[in-house]
Amino acid sequence: MGTPFVRGGNPASDANLSIIRAPGRRSGERSAQRPGVTVDSSKAKTSLEALKISLRQLRWKEFPFGRRLPCDIYWHGVSFHDNNIFSGQVNKFPGMMETVRKITLSRAMRTMQDLFPLEYNFYPRSWILPEELPLFVSEFRRMKDSDPSWKPTFIVKPDGGCQGDGIYLIKDPSDIRLTGSIQSRPAVLQEYICKPLLVDKLKFDIRLYVLLKSLEPLEIYIAKDGLSRFCTEPYQEPTLKNLHQVFMHLTNYSLNIHSGNFIHSDSVNTGSKRTFSSILCRLSSRGADVKKLWSDIISLVIKTIIALTPELKVYYQSDIPAGKPGPTCFQILGFDILLMKNLKPMLLEVNANPSMRIEHEQELSPGVFENVPSPVDEEVKVAVIRDTLRLVDPQKKKRKDTQCRSLEQVRDASEELPDAGLVARSEPDVHRSAEAALPSLCLKQVFPKYAKQFSYLRLVDRVAALFIRFLGVKGTTKLGPTGFRTFIRNCKLSNSNFSMAAVDILYIDITRRWNNMGIDHKESGMCLQAFVEAFFCLAQRKYKSLPLHEQVSSLIELCECRLAALRGKRLVCPREPCQAEGLHLAPAAPALLTHTDTASKFADYRNHRN
Ligand code: ADP
Repeated sequence: MGTPFVRGGNPASDANLSIIRAPGRRSGERSAQRPGVTVDSSKAKTSLEALKISLRQLRWKEFPFGRRLPCDIYWHGVSFHDNNIFSGQVNKFPGMMETVRKITLSRAMRTMQDLFPLEYNFYPRSWILPEELPLFVSEFRRMKDSDPSWKPTFIVKPDGGCQGDGIYLIKDPSDIRLTGSIQSRPAVLQEYICKPLLVDKLKFDIRLYVLLKSLEPLEIYIAKDGLSRFCTEPYQEPTLKNLHQVFMHLTNYSLNIHSGNFIHSDSVNTGSKRTFSSILCRLSSRGADVKKLWSDIISLVIKTIIALTPELKVYYQSDIPAGKPGPTCFQILGFDILLMKNLKPMLLEVNANPSMRIEHEQELSPGVFENVPSPVDEEVKVAVIRDTLRLVDPQKKKRKDTQCRSLEQVRDASEELPDAGLVARSEPDVHRSAEAALPSLCLKQVFPKYAKQFSYLRLVDRVAALFIRFLGVKGTTKLGPTGFRTFIRNCKLSNSNFSMAAVDILYIDITRRWNNMGIDHKESGMCLQAFVEAFFCLAQRKYKSLPLHEQVSSLIELCECRLAALRGKRLVCPREPCQAEGLHLAPAAPALLTHTDTASKFADYRNHRN
């Protein structure tokens, strides 16, 4: 049982811990010379408890109050910028919070849906309010006119909101609350998934933990287990009468905990929060194809990260410019996924800071709370943190490098591969024994493992590479007019039909529109999404008759070839007819990870739009 406290005075908070810090030497400094990985946990916030357990299991050295010397790893509770770090590794990417905000995520998914509608049909059709309200109303009217029996439901989610804050359901565009808040706090309006899979008659969602271990090269891991968070009122399809019942429609733990029906359980397969594996067992015993479900989830995760990487790379180069000292980054993301009745996984949102708390609050008397351990949270979250650390272990990397070097030396000496056991025996005993005592990794690598099947989707990544190349001044995230002109000139995209004056007009039109609706007003210039829109415009102009993804991939190839030629490198073009402006067709969709198209009515919407 935990210690009683008054809300706001968390015993694990940095402020309380700093009271017991000895003056003079910082805690843990004395043992700094001992071998082992060093971790600065001074900014870990609510993930501190789970981190501490993980570090104990790994026998790594924790610095709870920071350290004068650099640490190997910095564990931040909120953002990359929690500390000024110039070396080692940080558990956050710069710009991740901005990139996964509801509106930014919806925009990124929209771009991918425009390019690859079938591959990205796991994200509900979304509109951004207030700017796309007229578009939504007209599409709604058109659908209604063509099918009067159509009775959809939509969910409105304020941008930057979390824990169900400000969310409501509507049946008609006239129900959107337009007064005040929507102007100051934009929102995402989304198709509501009316037929979720139910367990014990309750709606639930899945919180899956995903490790983005590296951006370049892309490395993604998925935790084999996650959490299922349950509603606390039996589910009914939305009607005007039950639209307001949050305990029936919203699965947020932070909301349902206030329901009298919420069940705290010590078991992982009962109660209002369970492990995802317990749900899978149950589905499997009912004959569901759990293997296919996992395969669909893996596909969803990889495609979502592919949609996010272009924006992340722009932030990354701005905060950690190539060639300057800086840390490397990794990050645990929380994917919120809803299973439809037919077991198709749908992405609801991505959390940059998924809760890593392993206890919950219990109210002892009015205003006095106690932290009580939550076995379900502990089982899942400690494994995720511990195994993330194992994967980014800097000493393992050093050992690997040493192994490679010794392998090379042996190979140089004898031209024969040494006995693998020889290399293993050279590892320090302390690492081997700590590692041997641990369970097998709970994180499974999915990228680059399945890279071949998904690389054709990484078109916007290549557009972002062009954007970054012309950004010019280090530390910026927006392209100035000169940068854009240089891009057009170097790629030889202007001609008699498309003068440099027309280029300037294109730049001004698109940039102004994006800056008017953008959240980030700090910097002037063209943001990545605006550049992507301009690029798509140019591609459509040049390769009129093709599907959008072929237009875009053709223009990318053309630009890449012309830039390579300009660099004067004797680079063999990946596809031959660069000068002839020939086309490169994207390969067929992957066979392994296909899923059935639910043929949602909104597929028609998209066709109309395109
Ligand atoms: P928040 O960040 O505030 O938790 P979410 O996007 O996760 O916002 O939405 C909160 C909850 O609303 C989800 O956990 C889910 O139960 C429900 N929800 C969100 N979007 C949809 C949707 N498109 N269809 C059905 N339910 C949804």
